[in-house]
Amino acid sequence: MRFDRFDTLVVGSGLAGLTFALKASAFGRVCVLTKAEITDNNTNWAQGGIAAAVGESDDWHLHEEDTLVAGAGLCDPAAVRFLVQRAPEAIDWLRGLGARFDLELGREGGHSRNRIVHHADRTGWEVERAVSEAVRRDPNITVLENAFVTRLLRHGGRVVGLAAHLGDAGLRGYLARAVLLATGGCGKLYSHTTNPRVATADGIGLASGVGAEIRDMEFMQFHPTTLSHPQRSGFLITEAVRGAGGTLRNHRGRRFMYDYDDRLELAPRDVVARAIESELKRLETWCVYLDTTHLSPERLRHEFPTIWDALRGLGIEMEKDWVPIVPAQHYSCGGVVTDLEARTSVPGLYASGEVARTGVHGANRLASNSLLEAIVFSTSAAEAVAREQEPVVEEAALDLSPPHCPLEGETIPIRHTLQRTMGGGLGVFRTTAGMEAARTKVAELTAHFDSLPGAEFSAYSREAHNLLVAAKYVVEGALARRENVGLHFNADLPDPAAAGPAPRA
Ligand SMILES: Cc1cc2nc3c(=O)[nH]c(=O)nc-3n(C[C@H](O)[C@H](O)[C@H](O)COP(=O)(O)OP(=O)(O)OC[C@H]3O[C@@H](n4cnc5c(N)ncnc54)[C@H](O)[C@@H]3O)c2cc1C
Repeated sequence: MRFDRFDTLVVGSGLAGLTFALKASAFGRVCVLTKAEITDNNTNWAQGGIAAAVGESDDWHLHEEDTLVAGAGLCDPAAVRFLVQRAPEAIDWLRGLGARFDLELGREGGHSRNRIVHHADRTGWEVERAVSEAVRRDPNITVLENAFVTRLLRHGGRVVGLAAHLGDAGLRGYLARAVLLATGGCGKLYSHTTNPRVATADGIGLASGVGAEIRDMEFMQFHPTTLSHPQRSGFLITEAVRGAGGTLRNHRGRRFMYDYDDRLELAPRDVVARAIESELKRLETWCVYLDTTHLSPERLRHEFPTIWDALRGLGIEMEKDWVPIVPAQHYSCGGVVTDLEARTSVPGLYASGEVARTGVHGANRLASNSLLEAIVFSTSAAEAVAREQEPVVEEAALDLSPPHCPLEGETIPIRHTLQRTMGGGLGVFRTTAGMEAARTKVAELTAHFDSLPGAEFSAYSREAHNLLVAAKYVVEGALARRENVGLHFNADLPDPAAAGPAPRA
């Protein structure tokens, strides 16, 4: 096995990975490995925008307070302050790379001010465009597409590199001073998710493989308003539509948020998602509706062009029709534990973006704080990595055995059963019996996966392994949590009122 050497290695080409690459390239050669094409990531799909206290009546103290309130007492206050203080600088940096933002700031649930910097309803696409173009221009950055990272390489107690499967070139080894995990989320644990196909918890599988600390995975965020339509399941209708005045109605036309929370449609996501689920259960219906028929068609078309066009393609006219919606898995607040410089508990390994648990989200992420988190912590990671020493590595001592990959066809039912299990036991509402049943099922599926004969490398099959690892963290975290807080709601715990809405009437 031949090893390629770089100063730093990055796993993933979303905003966290590419920000880090651009910052770290000032200190040495960077290699970004990404398992599909460069723009296959969650970042590209982000609609709403990036939170930053840049408005006239705003300041970072208010952004800090809103973030802490959403996090329901479980945020790390130092991490939150670190994040919000650096937000204006992060926006300036993106502008400097050529990212274009609208003049008006948007408003989203949980924010006490208009502070969402955005590019219509395709902010992620615009940001990813700007950073990926800058990466392509940077001679110090190599990007390897279709490079699936299978394992982190350890030597003398630290991570010194990684192994990746590169299409026809097969398994290759890479060494560096440090590795940054920027693998994004784990939406594919659920069948109903806003996340694209690449969100398969690979970072959790990789970090767990080297014993890095992982926590808070039970805080799974469900976005309240995703389209309920067979052709576009999980398509997000950004919170900014509610910020612009969109209201929620049940099939009888009642604006039901009046029955749940004084903040109505702009209550934090967990509150709105639970209110919707309660309505679905109470009325035994499949969906509720987002009503924008009272808003001006010009405004809707101008501010939400992506949503406008997608809905029109399905025969839904926002200015005339109520949009059928349901909650869907959206974001993982937990992940690989990191400090303010994105260091994990394993020397040489850093993590940033959705895969990381920086402490800024606590029990619930405030809308539009995750793109910001990716920029802020990847920036501090790059500065920290510049101080890492080149490790002395005996190449012969590194474990480069191929990962266990059963035949792809054998893992299809495993992935489907896992999604059903997670949706049933670890959704918006949970019960102790439901979570225990999920624990048993995840253990059975894992044992079955491990017992299958190994076959040729398959990314799909390896993703099944990573999803099973992540599922265990979600289930164990949820069962261990003895209070209802933020995104975790166990209906069997004694004081359900403490966890949020129960219909008032
Ligand atoms: C529909 C939608 C709308 C959203 N809207 C907003 C918003 O308005 N504001 C906001 O702040 N957040 C929003 N979010 C959340 C936000 O987009 C994500 O949390 C953020 O983009 C994560 O960035 P990331 O760089 O950590 O991961 P990603 O952008 O997901 O990138 C992960 C990368 O890792 C690669 N990868 C994964 N595993 C491997 C492997 N084994 N080997 C090699 N490469 C691998 C992937 O291919 C991908 O390139 C939204 C998310 C979605 C899905």
